[in-house]
Amino acid sequence: AKEKEHINLAFIGHVDHGKSTLVGHLLLKTGVISEQKLGEGEDKFRYVMDKLREERERGVTIDLAHAKFETDKYEFTIVDCPGHRDFVKNMITGASQADAAVLVVAADDGVMPQTKEHVFLARTLGINQLIVAINKMDLVDYDEGRFKELKKEVSDLLKIVGYKPDEIPFVPLSAFKGDNITEKSENMGWYDGPTFLESLDTLKPPEKPIDLPLRIPVQDVYSITGVGTVPVGRVETGVLKVGDTVVFEPPGVSGEVKSIEMHHEAMEKAEPGDNIGFNVRGVGKDDIRRGDVAGHTDSPPTVAKEFTAQIVVLQHPGAITVGYTPVFHCHTAQVACTLTELKQKINPATGEVQEENPDFLKTGDAAVVKVKPTKPLVIEKIKDIPQLGRFAIRDMGQTVAAGMCIDVVPR
Ligand code: GDP
Repeated sequence: AKEKEHINLAFIGHVDHGKSTLVGHLLLKTGVISEQKLGEGEDKFRYVMDKLREERERGVTIDLAHAKFETDKYEFTIVDCPGHRDFVKNMITGASQADAAVLVVAADDGVMPQTKEHVFLARTLGINQLIVAINKMDLVDYDEGRFKELKKEVSDLLKIVGYKPDEIPFVPLSAFKGDNITEKSENMGWYDGPTFLESLDTLKPPEKPIDLPLRIPVQDVYSITGVGTVPVGRVETGVLKVGDTVVFEPPGVSGEVKSIEMHHEAMEKAEPGDNIGFNVRGVGKDDIRRGDVAGHTDSPPTVAKEFTAQIVVLQHPGAITVGYTPVFHCHTAQVACTLTELKQKINPATGEVQEENPDFLKTGDAAVVKVKPTKPLVIEKIKDIPQLGRFAIRDMGQTVAAGMCIDVVPR
């Protein structure tokens, strides 16, 4: 059988709206976990998600099979939900970039503060596909009127941040009772759309960005006897071929690609998603390092003198002011950067400007800021090359903020 295409799926939404319960039910219905493994009573589905989360937080390498499930069309991996420690960092560094998100909204509560935050964050992180699960329909007597009301409320929110609600499935369900998860519910005869599982098959698998300029962030550099310098990294965008001339930025050294290897096999070309080692003639091991980016000489990676970014402050104990210099994690680079200007504070739910030139930023704020790297850094405009336009800001051992580059002043 042909291998199924793969989609990374995030579950977002206000706390207690039923994300864990929905995931638990899904893993049960798709046969990933068996009925006996679940406890009895109220929270048996949630138990599954808690278990996964616990293991992750303890740093245990979890059996990924537990977080994977299949539909008729695709294989899905569930990536962690916002609020959990490294979600944002993982998303940004590509470790668990979500291709789509399920927004869970409880029918009794409706849109809540975290619903808004997560929708905004999903948009900021470049998650372009959504499914909306209107959960806990059992608590509102499976009422069609309430569903319609919520659909309108959520649609308005999605429109504000730039999603197209007309193209997004809204599925009324009960994660707890099992309505409309894998089988059509008899309690909601008025609903003629897809079940939740069917709605997942309407998602599109991520496209390989082969038409964008070549970008390979360097993870490591080896020197191999008889071969020469071999940088290793994942092709983020574009196509690399044997015989191409590539340049590494920021150092600006270039050379000809003599060979490309993946999983110990030689190949003539590499595409987005491929983890490769490639031998470059004319480049020494000490000329390049982790955090540099390879590109073609006719469209070299952009080295920023400074850049403008839109950021969301996720957690910071105090106030962030001009002069703050935390470490920016952008692709494989980690560079301390100084905030040189706080241009605008924006409403995280709507994107509207709230304040020009604010004095400080705190947890929950979104803002447009000017940034100056303390060392040369490759970063691209999110509009041009999204894969190299996102970053996480880390300080004191945690992810303080996440953001994207909206403009660059090249070196
Ligand atoms: P999370 O914080 O979004 O992961 O939410 P949980 O999955 O932990 O659910 C929060 C609470 O809501 C738990 O007590 C669940 O049993 C309950 N719950 C979840 N889904 C439903 C549902 O469809 N109907 C009802 N009545 N309760 C639900």
